[in-house]
Amino acid sequence: MSEGRPPGVSEPVWLSGPAAASPPPARRSSLLSSLLVVLAVVAVVWLGVRILAPGLLRSGPPPGHEEQHQPLGEPPLGHPTDGPYTFMQTQADVVTPVAYSPCRPIHYVVRPDGEPAGGDALLATALARISQASGLQFVADGATTEAPGKDRSAYQPQRYGDRWVPVLVAWSNPAETPELAGDVAGSAGSASVVSGGTSFYVTGEVVLDGPSIAGLLAEGPNGQAVAEGVVTHEVAHLVGLGHVDDPGELMNPTAALSQTYLAHGDLAGLARVGTGPCAPRL
Ligand SMILES: [Zn+2]
Repeated sequence: MSEGRPPGVSEPVWLSGPAAASPPPARRSSLLSSLLVVLAVVAVVWLGVRILAPGLLRSGPPPGHEEQHQPLGEPPLGHPTDGPYTFMQTQADVVTPVAYSPCRPIHYVVRPDGEPAGGDALLATALARISQASGLQFVADGATTEAPGKDRSAYQPQRYGDRWVPVLVAWSNPAETPELAGDVAGSAGSASVVSGGTSFYVTGEVVLDGPSIAGLLAEGPNGQAVAEGVVTHEVAHLVGLGHVDDPGELMNPTAALSQTYLAHGDLAGLARVGTGPCAPRL
């Protein structure tokens, strides 16, 4: 987990989650072996995007793109406020989460190479769950040929126009993305920029192991539910939630076998990251 960074620091920052222990050799039933793969999958988190400070590097877009005067959505009334949750990054006070501005939509593109049949529906389900719980709004910008990578620039005007790059959702595999080797089937994170002393996420990546998730989807309803849980877990990382120890929460990195939907602490945390400040100067 990252600690809050002092305002104005602009060097690239990488987050690496703890490597998961290797599961036993897959000698069990087909479904169980797939689930064992997923248990380790959700334990790895990284910030896959280079962090830029536009004022220092002069390589950011004009401020305020699509920014509104108030949040575009909000968490549901009566959402849970208890239960365990953590944040991927905090502000300098070490308690306030780094979050996306709720006053502009979060655009995303999909690199579809290797997407399993039903993968688009999985992503739609995960995004809808996170949006419903947080109030954050997602906008699909279609397909891209951009490959995922840790050195992805947050500002690529020739490819995406004069704005922060959209979130990249990439269906990948271990050959392309070494982080997906072995037991890992997904990773996600976002990049933050400091504005007025507050850090905001401006873009991010969700990288999914197409072959691993295809294997889950082939297992029927149980595998489908686990796959939905895995992708939801990764999108929750994208918007700022970290891991928790409670096995009853989806953000527990080893809970995928039994916990496939957002629980109390997950929902409480998502309400927090969905109600951050607006970012008119970004
Ligand atoms: Zn995770």
